[in-house]
Amino acid sequence: MSVPLAALAFFPCFFLFIVVQMDDTELQQFYDEFFEEVYVELEKYGEIEEMNVCDNLGDHLVGNVYVKFRYEEDAEKAVNELNNRWFNGRPVHAELSPVTDFREACCRQYEMGECTRGGFCNFMHLKPISRELRRELYGRSRR
Ligand SMILES: [Zn+2]
Repeated sequence: MSVPLAALAFFPCFFLFIVVQMDDTELQQFYDEFFEEVYVELEKYGEIEEMNVCDNLGDHLVGNVYVKFRYEEDAEKAVNELNNRWFNGRPVHAELSPVTDFREACCRQYEMGECTRGGFCNFMHLKPISRELRRELYGRSRR
């Protein structure tokens, strides 16, 4: 299990940002497990509206995780506490993010499966989780 979590960062407007490095060949199941692990951990700080993981290879976007909390104070609390934590043997770095709209920052071509810039695209390539996990994670906060 090697998912080095290089950095974890937070953004204003409740966006959390984590840097991880994922191997392209990792199985969807492994990705789902990773996603769930991070999600469950972050959920302790407050209600999560949305969480996304980038799989770009470009330096500034590699494996970043963006989390949008429902409440700003939860994001601030998470930033403060996560910076003292470790994940898979790596120190976590968290900060508030200037990103306010995931849809604007996303690569439309990637979503269509047509991005020719591959991992070095400057727009976010958000790796989808399985439908089952999506239902499980997002379903329970909407009870
Ligand atoms: Zn792209």
